[in-house]
Amino acid sequence: MVDLGGWSTGAVEYDSQVVKTVGLISLAFLALWMFRSKRPSANFSLEELTTTNTGLSNVPSSSARANLDKLANEVLEPLRERFGPIIISSGYRSPATNAAVGGVSDSAHLSGSAIDAFAEDGTSAATMAAWLYDSSLPLNQVLIYWNKGHLHIARDTGGTPYRRDFKETFDGGKTWNAWKPGGRRIT
Ligand SMILES: [Zn+2]
Repeated sequence: MVDLGGWSTGAVEYDSQVVKTVGLISLAFLALWMFRSKRPSANFSLEELTTTNTGLSNVPSSSARANLDKLANEVLEPLRERFGPIIISSGYRSPATNAAVGGVSDSAHLSGSAIDAFAEDGTSAATMAAWLYDSSLPLNQVLIYWNKGHLHIARDTGGTPYRRDFKETFDGGKTWNAWKPGGRRIT
């Protein structure tokens, strides 16, 4: 308590301490809200990158969110710049969401490092895959789902690289093509 010529400022000090504390807590929540609600990149929203038609909760962890931001900025924005608007059919998947759509248990979608997408203007998945193949973007794997015309695009996160390899394989009887060791270029 400070004595200012007979004026007690005790109540004022107490109030300002409360104001400070409430202010700091509010700022912390505001920062958290801004972090959570910040767009992953200029042209891709969090809603697009977490879209799911399963009806399940699909909220990324902070590390998956950080991966989504990198995927959007380092891979999706350059792809969009070349081919125009990109429609995401599947992005981040929670374990339950991944299981519901039949994703493999080690899917890069689980860590927010992969998306399935197609070009809004109808550019073929093969055309985009060929461009990605020749690009210097940080890619780990690109798959073409021929049955849907969608691309699976996974960012290089330092794991085993599949980039610049290509091989035919099968997905539940539906042919899809992947870059894998010992492969060749998509033409
Ligand atoms: Zn995928």
